[in-house]
Amino acid sequence: MLLFVALMGYLVYFNVVRAKEIVNSPYNERQNNFAERVVRGNITDRNGNILAETQLAEDGSEYRVYPYGDIFAHVVGYSDTDYGKAGLESMENFDLLTSNAFFLEKLRNEFQDVKDMGDTVVTTLDADLQQTAYNALGANKGAIVVMEASTGKILVMLSKPSYDPNQIAVQWEYLNGDAENSPLLNRATQGAYAPGSTFKVVTALEFMREHSDYANYTYDCYGEITQDGTTIRCFDNTVHGFQDLKGSVVTSCNASFSNIGLTLNRTAYRKTAEELLFNKKLPCSLDYTKPSFAVNENTSDAEMMMTAMGQGNTMTNPYHMALITASIANGGTLMEPYLVEKVTNYTGTEISKNVPKSYKRLMASEEAAQLKEYMAAVVNEGTGMLLSGQSYSAAGKTGTAEYSMVDGEKTHSWYMGFTNVDNPELVISVIVEGSDGQDGAKAVPIAKQVLDAYYYGG
Ligand SMILES: [Zn+2]
Repeated sequence: MLLFVALMGYLVYFNVVRAKEIVNSPYNERQNNFAERVVRGNITDRNGNILAETQLAEDGSEYRVYPYGDIFAHVVGYSDTDYGKAGLESMENFDLLTSNAFFLEKLRNEFQDVKDMGDTVVTTLDADLQQTAYNALGANKGAIVVMEASTGKILVMLSKPSYDPNQIAVQWEYLNGDAENSPLLNRATQGAYAPGSTFKVVTALEFMREHSDYANYTYDCYGEITQDGTTIRCFDNTVHGFQDLKGSVVTSCNASFSNIGLTLNRTAYRKTAEELLFNKKLPCSLDYTKPSFAVNENTSDAEMMMTAMGQGNTMTNPYHMALITASIANGGTLMEPYLVEKVTNYTGTEISKNVPKSYKRLMASEEAAQLKEYMAAVVNEGTGMLLSGQSYSAAGKTGTAEYSMVDGEKTHSWYMGFTNVDNPELVISVIVEGSDGQDGAKAVPIAKQVLDAYYYGG
């Protein structure tokens, strides 16, 4: 009789537990009931390094431990009974509070009134590379995303300033009150930055679409261009002279791109931007800010000039720029990005596994091939030259994004690119806030440190 009741209870329990969406809702009271039956499982990196685990206090109460402190704070998040959940802790709540421990063990636990061990979430993250990225960004504010072009696996997602999820309850008010640094904000996905010159890749794509003879484009740069009372200058007023489209990308010539912007069809430009996921939902399981592109048929010439070179009202984040780069690297097809490699039970037996799948084609393969060639030239002969001459090849685009309308000296430094140009491997996107100097001056050396660590060990 006892056994029968236990088994019935078991069946009901499972039927109720299986409603994943309901369980994951942060408003669901039942979440806490599961926590009374299951010890919240571990979160690990791709190599089994523990990113989050549950430990027992002396009084028997459970608490969450994050061995890497603030290094994984935004992507792994936190789980706290009073302050809720964020990051993977929120997104994977169901799996962490589900136990696929062996049946007999669970039955024994049931009789002994002992909790079952929750499942382990094995992520695609690479703890060593994340640590390298953390060190490379140093005391700067900014973000770094690294993913695989051909699979969509996310290896690194870093945001600074960060916080220590072990201290979330103690520091809650301080963290929420720090408006200047916004340490809880995941800049990788929730940042809203002007793309700066990285956007020239999008503008070049639109120009190619409107002009099948784009290879014949030439422009004579005098270091600045004026239209409608608006003057756009090249970096340091550099006079770039005659250049074609490729040259304009390689030298990141603002005048040439402003000139291109004046010729573009506003409706078509918006369509291209939206195909690259501006104004669209992103394939992203974490909280993010939707990238925006504001051009429409009423946009002024001045605004078109600024938009074409990456200023204006366009807003994006490093994660989104990584997705665009990944599609260029991957022949136009964006693979669906993902953070969870698999779920196992607590002893390591596989329960479910994610496999790479295509998300969407963002551009034609010929277009991707042409942009790839331009981006390779940026590294071989242009503003990304620091990355040339390595054992790995690289292609990319640098950027400087002005963020102060009052003080034009205040800029963010961008780099987006990929490695192994012939058979693209890693995609990297870096933003460093509040830097000055030439395109990518701060972001490129940081990208290089991360890529060097991956290819040479670090
Ligand atoms: Zn120029």
